[in-house]
Amino acid sequence: MNLNKAEFVIGATAPKSFVRDGLPQIAFAGRSNVGKSSTINALLNRKNFVRVGNAPGKTRQVNYFHIDQQLYLVDLPGYGYAKVSQAERDKWGRLMEAYFDSGLITRGVQIVDARHKPTADDITMVNWFKSTDCPFVVVANKLDKLKKSEIEPNLKQIRQVLELDDDVVVLPFSAEKRQGVEELRQIIFGQKGLNH
Ligand code: GDP
Repeated sequence: MNLNKAEFVIGATAPKSFVRDGLPQIAFAGRSNVGKSSTINALLNRKNFVRVGNAPGKTRQVNYFHIDQQLYLVDLPGYGYAKVSQAERDKWGRLMEAYFDSGLITRGVQIVDARHKPTADDITMVNWFKSTDCPFVVVANKLDKLKKSEIEPNLKQIRQVLELDDDVVVLPFSAEKRQGVEELRQIIFGQKGLNH
């Protein structure tokens, strides 16, 4: 798969705009500012393909990126930003429920902050991934901000708080330092001759 062949397709603001063409959809979820855009850019080896540092809470759409005509990376709207109105929050919830219920997700990528205990919203998202029965991976981003001695306990805490089965990978990751990128590519795109 040629990761250089990536293009933005559509930002769906309502379920009728979800892409339903049968290609795999890899869904990325995470709290605003956790580094979701940076993670997708790191995967694609791009600097600012997905805009980093977007105004938090402003992107209320499900963004589809078509990769080499073979699959979609689906950037779900970030959550957990305090200054978002209840009406906006409700709209987000309805859109997410529709997407998770759609049966369109092939694989999930839940991004959490390696420094902190997962939030209630993180737990909600992971429960949604669990409910789809599709495989998902938890990416513990911003690892570069941890002391070495903090890494193991924090990863363990993430696994415990999110109540993950043993077969769910919690991947130590830093979008900034490009740590864990190759491992995440393997998980998402598989082994077959990556060209990037
Ligand atoms: P998003 O809102 O989840 O899409 O987050 P962004 O990708 O826009 O990143 C939010 C902020 O966190 C930006 O200032 C990034 O530079 C920073 N950031 C993202 N990933 C990392 C990382 O692995 N380490 C560090 N130190 N900062 C990061």
